[in-house]
Amino acid sequence: MVKIEIDFEKCIGCGACVNACPVSLYEIVDEKSKVTGNVDDCVLCRACETTCPVGAITITE
Ligand code: SF4
Ligand code: SF4
Repeated sequence: MVKIEIDFEKCIGCGACVNACPVSLYEIVDEKSKVTGNVDDCVLCRACETTCPVGAITITE
């Protein structure tokens, strides 16, 4: 099971994760990243994790 954690203290709302995710799991809500898609759709590419400039996203299996 995939778990996506976003550190809201670190997130600067840049939207890089929104653009990076191939299955569109993220949206910017109130200037912070939020998972609004179905986590089960995650293909574990880790693009979000590697693209986030402040290391706010952690993907665990
Ligand atoms: S690991 Fe890939 S598919 Fe999963 S949330 Fe991140 S960018 Fe999207
Ligand atoms: S890439 Fe990182 S800092 Fe930018 S919106 Fe996503 S979680 Fe926030």
